[in-house]
Parts: sequence; C-alpha cells; structure tokens
Amino acid sequence: DRVDAALSSGILTQGPQVARFEELARPWTGRDTAAVASGSAALEIALRIIGVAGRTVLVPVNTYFATAAAAVRAGAAVRFVDIELDGLGLDPDALSAALDRHPDTAAVLPVHIGGIVSPALDPALAQCHLRGIPVVEDAAHAFGATLDGRPAGSFGRLGAFSFFPTKVAMSGEGGLLSAASADDLEQVRRWRDHGKSAQGSTLHDRPGGNWRLSELHAAVGTVDLERFAATLAARRALAARYDALLADVPGIRPHAVPAAAGSNYYKYLAYLDPDGPLDRPLLKKLLRERHGVSLAGEVYDHLLCDHPQFAAERRQDAADGPFERARWFARHHVALPLYPSLTENEQIRVVAALRSELP
Ligand SMILES: *Cc1c(COP(=O)(O)O)cnc(C)c1O
Repeated sequence: DRVDAALSSGILTQGPQVARFEELARPWTGRDTAAVASGSAALEIALRIIGVAGRTVLVPVNTYFATAAAAVRAGAAVRFVDIELDGLGLDPDALSAALDRHPDTAAVLPVHIGGIVSPALDPALAQCHLRGIPVVEDAAHAFGATLDGRPAGSFGRLGAFSFFPTKVAMSGEGGLLSAASADDLEQVRRWRDHGKSAQGSTLHDRPGGNWRLSELHAAVGTVDLERFAATLAARRALAARYDALLADVPGIRPHAVPAAAGSNYYKYLAYLDPDGPLDRPLLKKLLRERHGVSLAGEVYDHLLCDHPQFAAERRQDAADGPFERARWFARHHVALPLYPSLTENEQIRVVAALRSELP
C-alpha cells in the first residue's frame, strides 16, 4: 500500500518516504541519519567525506568484500588487520601494529561481525583518537545492536548501514549513514545527489554519484523499521533458545557473545570441534541432504587478503599477516538458520539434525 501511495504521489525519489525512513532509523543508530542507495554507497561516501585518496585505509581481514572495495573506489590503499575471537572485532594489538606500520592511515573501518559490537571497539577507538584518525563503522550487520547500551553507528565519525534483503532490517536495496556532525550529514546529502554544491543547485563541486534512495525502497524500509523492535526481540529470543537447545550437543559450541554486547543476532554463530571428523562443507551437505536443513551463510569463509582483487596488496605487505585468528574463525564457524518467523519446532529440528550428524 505504501509503495502504491508513493507511486500515485508522483514523488519517486528523495521525498517524504525517505525522510520518514531516516526519522525511523534515528533512535536505533543514536544519531541523525541520511539515507543512501546501498551499504556500499554509505561506506564510499563516508570515506570520500574524510578524503582517503592516496592514503591507507585499515580494514579487518574478516569482513565482506564491500568494506574494502569502497575504500579502493574512494582511492585508498587497503591494508588488513587481524581480529580478536571474543567479539570478532579488530584485534587491538594487531591494530596498533598496523597503525605503526602505516603512518599514512587516513581511516579505520571496524566491522560489527554477525551483529556483535565488540568490546574491543573501545580500545580501537581510543588508539585512533590518540592518533587523530577518523573511524567509520561498517555497521551493515549491526542495525539495532549495542555495546554497553550504546547503539552501533554511534561510535565512529560516521556509521554505515545496509538494508539489503538479508540484513536484519531491509528496504529491498538501501543504505544509511549516521553521523555526529550536522556538517558531515550535509556532506552526505551533497555526495549522494551527484555532488551538487547545494540542494537544488545546478552547480556541482565534487564527483558525487547517484547514491539516492528511491521513495519505493524507502516505503518498504519504513514498514520494516516500524516493526523493528519486534524483529529484534524475536531474534534475541530465538538465539536464547538455540543457546539452551545446544547446551548438551557434542561437537558444536555456540559463540559466547560478550556480556556487554547486545547482539541483534544477524548471525547465530557456533564453532565445530576443530579436531572433529566433519568439516563445515561436509556437515552442510549432510544437513541439507539428510535433514532438509540449510545453514545460513558464513561471515566469512574467505579472508579478504585471499580474494584475487587483493593479491597485489598481499604481495606488497606480507608483514600485515598471517591473520591466524581470522583464519581460524573463517575455517571453523557455522551460522544456524535464524529469522523472525522461525518456529520452536523448526529450531528443535535443526538441533536434532546437528545432534544426529555430529559425533
Ligand atoms: C552487506 C554488507 C555491505 C554492503 O551493503 P550493500 O547494501 O549490499 O551495498 C557492506 N559491508 C558489510 C559487512 C556487509 O555485510
């Protein structure tokens, strides 16, 4: 109905639905927001506002390709940092070493993997603050997640969110930036609309793009945001039930989410016994073929440094590696099916399937 209303209004982009979407997102990010076309656009705009061209951007080696690709498009050299295994954030020691090795670092991009805002974010922010380096949160996984009650997207200079269909809140396609400073948000509005030098102006002062969110996508997003409190509560209840159901299942161990982190459970993460006889691909195959159970996608199965796009970076700077913790995580984690309409019986079936396949 809301899409129909947007269509018959004749305003198809950058109108009242976008304004309402930004308004509804605000309390969940703790800051004022500006909607954009995608999570990738949000990241690229944030990095263009900071101005990273010709310098280094530090990115966790375990994240989605889009985090690093945005930095490449904004003209930066990407360098990778290992993670810590408690909250899956940037490892503070690895970050400190990387900052020493790359004194031209223009920005650091922590990523809230699986919807966990890691307690290690605080020391990372402190280090960056000390060195005067801006932080952009890649909060694509973390809409509604918190650390010590503070929302994802309220820690860095800017926070980037995605509303791609697989994320916890969605608009079909869409993205959002949260920012502390009104000037940064005004810059977002310029960048997203072809780099116009002022709203409504026909003069352009930067190489912006079409990074606008359509009214149709925003209309979809407003519906999902209006019910987001219920979505979040449902995801957390499902995660608590998995915790209980998995307690006595051998061969699999749920990720212990740090007490300070209020995860949105974008992913329910667990670890297979590294010494067990089943690796993840085989387990996934058996669950699918014998039980009709499909596990969710990993976050992630390949480290960024192993993608062909980044082969050159890897050769240039082997010193940043070997990323042992991220490699362990990539190899051994699984993500159980979790979405708001999942029933208790379905969860019981998932866990029974795991129990029957794990030794
Ligand atoms: C989904 C995602 C993005 C990109 O978002 P899009 O809306 O698909 O452009 C960026 N970073 C991470 C970590 C993501 O999961």
